[in-house]
Amino acid sequence: MKITEVKTYNLRYPLVQPFANSQTWSKARRAGIVEIRTDAGITGWGEGSSTPSQAAIDTCLIGKDPFDIEVIWNTMHQRGGSNPAAISGVDIALWDILGKALDQPIYRLLGGAFRDRMPAYASGLFKKAVPDITQILMDEAKAYVDQGFSAVKMKIGFGEAYDVKNVTAVRRAVGDTIILAVDANCGYDVGTAIDIGQKIAANDLFWYEEPITTDDVDGYVEIRRALNMRIAGGEGLQGRWAFRDLIQKRGYDIVQPDVSIAGGFTECRKIAAMASANHLRVLPHMWGSSIRLAATLHWQATIPDAPEVLNPIPSLFEFDMTENRLRTDLAEVPIRAVEGYVPIPQGPGLGIEINRAVLERYAS
Ligand SMILES: [Mg+2]
Repeated sequence: MKITEVKTYNLRYPLVQPFANSQTWSKARRAGIVEIRTDAGITGWGEGSSTPSQAAIDTCLIGKDPFDIEVIWNTMHQRGGSNPAAISGVDIALWDILGKALDQPIYRLLGGAFRDRMPAYASGLFKKAVPDITQILMDEAKAYVDQGFSAVKMKIGFGEAYDVKNVTAVRRAVGDTIILAVDANCGYDVGTAIDIGQKIAANDLFWYEEPITTDDVDGYVEIRRALNMRIAGGEGLQGRWAFRDLIQKRGYDIVQPDVSIAGGFTECRKIAAMASANHLRVLPHMWGSSIRLAATLHWQATIPDAPEVLNPIPSLFEFDMTENRLRTDLAEVPIRAVEGYVPIPQGPGLGIEINRAVLERYAS
């Protein structure tokens, strides 16, 4: 089998209601989609936070055998000048082709699934331009619990007054038994992250995500030692080298690679192996279209509990609850959470069919 054609699509979906994390207001959602065609009539789909250049496509992909996944990854990275984010979409599309060629879902090619559905956490609770954000957050969190979620994650990083007031309110709204995590999106420096972490810790938080900038290894180690709660991060890191020191020096309790940023399945398996060798938990980040959603489900299904015990800490899947038609409409059959669980797609490859009308509607 040979690759005959590679197309890229930069999708943009304008949000009905903008929302903010600690860094910025979001007015639209974006996705970099890669379509790879072969002379066997099989088409693969991938998503990356960026897309490969035409030069990389011409020199590293056209005419190559899609089964040579490791070779293609390394050629794109070392000779093609592509970063892991741009390779991610290609890598996911190649695994989609392999699965379709072998009539197997990707999770089976990766070694088999430990679960056929993922326990999920509702990822939302952003800041919005409303007069009483606290009441809005409490209502939103309660709605997630009513939908059957046993875990939720909220955004912080907006300053001490906002964070303390709203984390306390959301904890009160969901009750004592729901898992609650907070995500600061790199909003603080080390001293502030520790100070605010100490002030919100009384709310029984499951993890504190990205308190500081992504690559400050010593800062993460310092925060982790100072606080009595799990520290998570890594969603923006690209390639195994970016994760190495944070994992080996134990900057995190929970490593959160994104399959569409870190380098696709091929690279994420290596990052997960490195985390496993250092006894750290991997709970992938997910923030994208139907393609990234399906890809993350396939990968996370293959990650064992750590440690594997009678009552393991659940392998929580990040289920994005925000409005995004690239996630809900790009696949012909939407992937939904049912009573707080998300099923692993069972068809060959990614197990989804792409709706080309939706693809074209949001292509810019
Ligand atoms: Mg995050």
